[in-house]
Amino acid sequence: MKRHRICLESLTAPPDGKHTNLEIVDIDNRYTIYTNRTLLSIDRTEFNRLLFENIREDAEIIFDRALKIDQRNKIVVTTKNFRISADYLIGADGVNSVVKKHIRNSDQKKINLIQIEFKPHLFPDSTMFVFDSNTVSDFYSYIIPKDRYLVAGTKYSGKGTVGKLKNLLKNFKLEGKINNLESYRLTIINSSRDVLFGKGNILLAGEASGFVSPSSGEGISFALESGMLAAKAIAKSYGSNENLLENYRKLSKNLIKRLESRIEKSKVIFNPEFRKEYFRRYYDGHNIERIQEEA
Ligand SMILES: Cc1cc2nc3c(=O)[nH]c(=O)nc-3n(C[C@H](O)[C@H](O)[C@H](O)COP(=O)(O)OP(=O)(O)OC[C@H]3O[C@@H](n4cnc5c(N)ncnc54)[C@H](O)[C@@H]3O)c2cc1C
Repeated sequence: MKRHRICLESLTAPPDGKHTNLEIVDIDNRYTIYTNRTLLSIDRTEFNRLLFENIREDAEIIFDRALKIDQRNKIVVTTKNFRISADYLIGADGVNSVVKKHIRNSDQKKINLIQIEFKPHLFPDSTMFVFDSNTVSDFYSYIIPKDRYLVAGTKYSGKGTVGKLKNLLKNFKLEGKINNLESYRLTIINSSRDVLFGKGNILLAGEASGFVSPSSGEGISFALESGMLAAKAIAKSYGSNENLLENYRKLSKNLIKRLESRIEKSKVIFNPEFRKEYFRRYYDGHNIERIQEEA
């Protein structure tokens, strides 16, 4: 599967990353916060390479697409070229998870994002998160400077979304010929009860389970952590009578708490009225460099 997503994540060992300051532009409420928060922008392909390099040497890696899961005495994964049987399975197969579909038809909500890449005449120094619910979308739009190009994305809200995004960029004098346009799906859950941990000896981790922050759309750290917890739950339950799913749920208590705080945040920041107060308070004192009220 191709991977061109640009992402921002607080990693301590960035693979070829670029640090930028974050600006929050609230067009609904007509203010900009020039935060002193630094974000790290990394290349997902490079990041995936880094993860691959860290796989244990004795692990066997099979590059193939899982097509079907069956549960008999063992779990059987059918791919195009193989049939693999296992005692346990962790489905970490992302937004369109085949493993999740096997477990049950999930009603987890998904949104579509569109993302463009272009080379502007002038590069901004900062990453911008822009809230403009009246003209662009009820999510937020992002503008991220990379080394040689700029990435901008927003929630797809029907025909004309690309035009709306381009107009938004024009307001910041960011124009240029688009050299890449992609669309993505993203899981957004409104309640931690919607997280799917799995069924029997099959566990779900990462976006497949619903572990994505609905306030930012970020899910890499959730994916890394839930994957690790799923593995821990298997290690704990293996050869014992302990319930695997129960162990996974218990181990995920703190992760669920973190997700719940992001769910609460999403209810605040996507409401223009609540957002104003929230950001002012959040960035007051420690992180605020300047709040500029526009006339
Ligand atoms: C446009 C966009 C920007 C984002 N930006 C950020 C960001 O800045 N920071 C952040 O933290 N998060 C970001 N996210 C969210 C983040 O990408 C996901 O939450 C995260 O990648 C989830 O990790 P995962 O391992 O669960 O799934 P994925 O990263 O989607 O990995 C799933 C893997 O499973 C494989 N797979 C899928 N189906 C099958 C199958 N049937 N058989 C075998 N393999 C299969 C895929 O090829 C892929 O390698 C962004 C998402 C989008 C859409």
